[in-house]
Amino acid sequence: MELSNRQEQIIQIVKDNGPITGENIADHLSLTRATLRPDLAILTMAGFLDARPRVGYFFTGKTGSELLTEKLKKFKVKEYQSIPIVVEEDVSAYDAICTMFLEDVGTLFVTNELGHLVGVLSRKDLLRASIGNQDLSSIPVHIIMTRMPNITICKPEDLLLDAAQKLIEKQIDGLPVVEPAENGLEVIGRLTKTNITKALVELGLDQHL
Ligand code: ADP
Repeated sequence: MELSNRQEQIIQIVKDNGPITGENIADHLSLTRATLRPDLAILTMAGFLDARPRVGYFFTGKTGSELLTEKLKKFKVKEYQSIPIVVEEDVSAYDAICTMFLEDVGTLFVTNELGHLVGVLSRKDLLRASIGNQDLSSIPVHIIMTRMPNITICKPEDLLLDAAQKLIEKQIDGLPVVEPAENGLEVIGRLTKTNITKALVELGLDQHL
């Protein structure tokens, strides 16, 4: 987050004199309390300063990058997940390819007749199946998918950072976001590298500070 000159000055005054009232900060700068109000609000919201009633403003001691890390660690999977694209396990590889194009996704989740997660299908799984002129319309996806229990999952309440770490560790592009269902897992979302990139851009553009 870029601070204005005046905001930098305020931080310095509070560092040197805190706890200090808004009135006194204004005196140091020869400005009115009303003029300073937006700056004080920004600095408090962003976590540089804290304010206690009848005490005044004090410096939290946190650097910009510490505050950024704090924000990042608050991001949850459910705030960034996308809609999952799901196919049933007896759908053909050919139809799965069509679904990928129509839905514009790189990963499909595969469910059984109860709607429970049984597998994941990536672009490479489909490419592999198409090597050697096989008839893709006669190959059901459950033969070529990665199957449970080898599926890496995440939950809506998980930290986005933990989900990102799973993507890196397992070298995969996406995770199904799941909720427990009777005797299985229900797929309620999709978390991909794109979602992580969006969070990073938001953070960079200060929309969370
Ligand atoms: P691509 O195959 O397009 O490079 P991935 O890197 O995501 O996409 O997939 C690599 C392999 O990992 C595939 O065989 C795929 O089935 C499997 N895979 C993808 N996502 C998961 C997941 N969440 N859990 C377990 N395996 C996965």
